[in-house]
Amino acid sequence: MTISLRWGAATDTGRVRSVNEDSALVEDGLFAVADGMGGHVAGEVASRVAIDALRTNAGQGLAEAVRLANRAVFERAVDDPSLRGMGTTMCAATLVEQDGRPQLLIANVGDSRVYVLRDGELVQLTDDHSLVGEMERDGRLTAEEAKVHPQRNIVTRVLGNEPDVEVDQFWLDPFRGDRLLLCSDGLFDMVDDDVMVHVLRSEPDANEAAAELVTLANEAGGRDNITVVLVDVVDDGGKAEAASASLAGTTTKSRPVERVVRDDEPAEPAPAPSNRRPRAGRATRHLTWRSALFVLALLAIVAGAAGGTWWFARTGYFVGIDRHRVTLFQGRPGGVLFLDPTVEHRTGLRLGDLPPARRAAVEDQHEFTTKAAAERFIDRLRQETTTTTTTTPGTTSTTVLPPTSAPTPSSTP
Ligand code: MG
Repeated sequence: MTISLRWGAATDTGRVRSVNEDSALVEDGLFAVADGMGGHVAGEVASRVAIDALRTNAGQGLAEAVRLANRAVFERAVDDPSLRGMGTTMCAATLVEQDGRPQLLIANVGDSRVYVLRDGELVQLTDDHSLVGEMERDGRLTAEEAKVHPQRNIVTRVLGNEPDVEVDQFWLDPFRGDRLLLCSDGLFDMVDDDVMVHVLRSEPDANEAAAELVTLANEAGGRDNITVVLVDVVDDGGKAEAASASLAGTTTKSRPVERVVRDDEPAEPAPAPSNRRPRAGRATRHLTWRSALFVLALLAIVAGAAGGTWWFARTGYFVGIDRHRVTLFQGRPGGVLFLDPTVEHRTGLRLGDLPPARRAAVEDQHEFTTKAAAERFIDRLRQETTTTTTTTPGTTSTTVLPPTSAPTPSSTP
C-alpha cells in the first residue's frame, strides 16, 4: 500500500519582530517547524541549526534525529558565548512504514504544534511543553484562559538548553483527505481555531492555504513570527473508500483520530517517497545490540557476585570439632549460603584432651587465612596436650616441656 503526499508552506516575520527566528523543513517525506528563541540572532541560529541537524540525521529515526538536533544546538551554544541560552522548539512529521503499513510519525519538543484536519475537524496531536499547556492538562486552566494567559510564552521543554532532551512521539494512521498542519505559536496565538478550520477546509492548495493562514495572523496583529507547513494525504491506496463503505449508513465518525504515543521506533523503513526517511531497521539492531550488552553486563555482575561469594566461602580455614575430634576445616564456620565447610583433616585429639585455654578457641571455631597457619595452630595443640596430660597412675604431675619437643605419635590420626 502506498501513500501520496502533497505539501505547501509559508513563513513571515510578522508585524512586530524585526527578525524571523522560525525555520521550517519541507522535503518529500520530512516536514518540520522550529521556533527559535534567544537574544540578538541567537533564536534564528538555534532554529536553523536544529533544522539542519534534523535533516542530516533523519536516517537515524525521527526521535533520534530530534535528540541529535538538540545536541547540535546545545553544543553550538557552548562553543559560542554570544549564543548562550538560545533554544528552539521543534515539531516534525515523517512518513514511515510500521508493520507493513504506511504511518505518519510525529515528534515534538516545545510549544509549536501539529494538528490534523480529518473529516472537517481539527485535532491537535501534540502537547504544548509550556507552562500554560501543563496547567491546561492539569485542569487548572481552560483552553480560553490559556490563550490569553500573561505567561503563555513560557516554554518548559526546548532544544538546546540541556545535552539531552525528552522527545514526544505520536503515530497517525493516514487517510486520504487528511491535512497535517505544523505551525509556530505565531499562528495559533493570533488566529482562532474555527478560522483556521475554515481556511484548511476551503482552500485545497496547500501553498495557498498556508499563505492565507499567515496573512490572517498578520491581520490579527502579527505579534510573533508565523510559520505554517501543510501536508495533504492525496492517496492512501483506497483505504479511505474501504473505511467509508464499511461504515455506510451509519452516523459513526468514520475514522477517529487516535493520538497514539509510542516510544519505540518503527520496525521497517517506508517505501518510496524520501531517501531521508528513518531507517528504523538500523534502530532495531541498535536496540538488540544494546540489549545484548545489558544481558552481558548483568551476567558479569551475577558471575562476579557468585565468584566473590565462592571466594569468601572457600578461601579461609578454621579449626573446630568433627566426630568428637579436633578437625581442620576449609571454608567458613557454619558455611556461606549453600557452600558448607569441608573437612581437610581430622586429628586424633579430643576436646577434653586440650588445655582449657585452648578449648574455647576450638569451640569458637577459630579462623585462619592460610592452611599453614591453621596447621601450626593444631601442632601447638598437640604439643600442649602432650605436655599437660602426662599422667602417672596415682600421682598427677605436670611437666612443662620446651616448645621444641617432638610431636607425640598419638596425635597423628
Ligand atoms: Mg514564536
